[in-house]
Amino acid sequence: MLNSSFEKKVRPFLDLIDKLRAMGVEQDVALPTIAVIGDQSSGKSSVLESLSGVQLPRGNGIMTRCPLALKLKKCDSNWKCKIKYQTADGSFDEDIKAPSDVGEAVLEAQKMLAGHQKGISQDLITLEVESSSTPDLTLIDLPGIARVAVEGQPLDIEKKIKELIMSYIEQEKTIILVTIPCNVDIATTEALSMARQCDPQGERTLGVLTKPDLMDRGTENSAIRVLNNQSISLKKGYIMVKCRSQWDIEGSITLEDAIKAERSFFEMHSVFKYIEGKCTTQVLANRLTTELVGQIKHLLPCLRQEVNRKFYETTEELNKFEYGAPTDNKSQIIFLNGLIMKYSANVQSLALGECHRNFKE
Ligand code: GDP
Ligand code: MG
Repeated sequence: MLNSSFEKKVRPFLDLIDKLRAMGVEQDVALPTIAVIGDQSSGKSSVLESLSGVQLPRGNGIMTRCPLALKLKKCDSNWKCKIKYQTADGSFDEDIKAPSDVGEAVLEAQKMLAGHQKGISQDLITLEVESSSTPDLTLIDLPGIARVAVEGQPLDIEKKIKELIMSYIEQEKTIILVTIPCNVDIATTEALSMARQCDPQGERTLGVLTKPDLMDRGTENSAIRVLNNQSISLKKGYIMVKCRSQWDIEGSITLEDAIKAERSFFEMHSVFKYIEGKCTTQVLANRLTTELVGQIKHLLPCLRQEVNRKFYETTEELNKFEYGAPTDNKSQIIFLNGLIMKYSANVQSLALGECHRNFKE
């Protein structure tokens, strides 16, 4: 999807962030990423599917029940995909054979992490996809905002989903991608109002208008106003895409054919054919890679500072152990005893402090 000189320029930046993420740096330092948010069934997974070429679980109702990090890597070799997640029994890491098997593997992972019903979990599932036709990108798919709990969901499901989404989009380093169906009133989109809470000026929010084929004839002007940033203005603006409908999926339209159908939809459309540079998945892919790399370059100096600070703090902490943990049995017992005593003294003083506070109140 991207030209090769562009790829050569962007790959090192994306690799750097992926390596830091693989080393677990994210536990201490937030890394630049793109989080995809939207109301339930607004087309998040469909957009990710068009970008990645892999089939994700989707349809009506809650399909995305865990955050899903989609690491896309453009390469010359054959299609490759791995799914990774952590359960109480240990880490799971498996190759997936074909793009059409991805949805099933993600559903299975969700069952392990979020149960067999319709609840959600904040445990991350990672999908690594390498192919010659994906852009270079890392995106995170999040559960859609559901207003009312359905059978099998806790009553506070809306609150739980919003907290999970907030934990990603609050981070200053996250680019927020909001999917908004063209056939609803943009002002009522909950996801857009959440993005505006975290990013009031719309500096790091990009809107994706979905389902343009489902708009009533004659209402196209409202979508054009949004695309031209004349409705709810975002500094990064909006891009319109058309993905596969449920009908297309049931009719087994492949993702490749869907990309071709999208191109001809926009070329033939009586109104949208006049819009330049703001439509199709291809435009979205190029734009997202540019945005992500821009964000990484912008944040590199502050990332370096944060990593150095963490390194310094950890070294200080390690120095407290002087020569580290002893290796022989007898000294190990003494060393562990010391640690346990220290820990229980800390707990005791905390508890005393709490009693003291309660007593005063
Ligand atoms: P999510 O809950 O936000 O992840 O939404 P999904 O991606 O699962 O999409 C919900 C439904 O809308 C699915 O049946 C999709 O096939 C359908 N859909 C998504 N995008 C489009 C589109 O551009 N046009 C049409 N007609 N249907 C779409
Ligand atoms: Mg989804």
